[in-house]
Amino acid sequence: MLTKQDYEYFSGEAAKYLAKAGIAITEEERGRIEVAEYELGCIEKVGLELVVYVNTERCCAKELVLLPGQTCPEHRHPEINGEEGKEETFRCRYGKVYLYVEGEGDGPIQGQPPEGMEEYFTCRKEIILNPGEQYTIMPNTFHWFQAGPEGAVVSEFSTKSRDEYDIYTDPRIDAAGKRNVD
Ligand code: ZN
Repeated sequence: MLTKQDYEYFSGEAAKYLAKAGIAITEEERGRIEVAEYELGCIEKVGLELVVYVNTERCCAKELVLLPGQTCPEHRHPEINGEEGKEETFRCRYGKVYLYVEGEGDGPIQGQPPEGMEEYFTCRKEIILNPGEQYTIMPNTFHWFQAGPEGAVVSEFSTKSRDEYDIYTDPRIDAAGKRNVD
């Protein structure tokens, strides 16, 4: 569970990073920054902050903030009732993002699965995004991502977001009631 103090701290940090990235948000949006901690109790390692701009039947747009060392856990967006799962494009606005998708990598990766949770971070195909660079993840493809040492701000453009259907590699997240995010 996230305490009120945690919420204040992490949403406050997220607001600072958005400002550093030169991304303006309204007071109303500032007041509803979400902090995702995945019920794992280690938000410094596994967690992220976000602001959702729009989420309709057809499209979704949001900003994701990862503080230095924060990681979004591995998951995929499955087909639901015959409808294709979510397709998402991540565009780095600030910092550096280490993104991993299903597939083999060429060797050692630069990101680091959170200690003690390595078995839940299996994707090894590495994509490194610097500001102005982007990558599109096709539906139902496992992925996880991590901020570089300066943190990261990432704009996400996608089809409809239905977080409750997301499937995580770490069974503790599925069991804990999902509220995501990306
Ligand atoms: Zn995702």
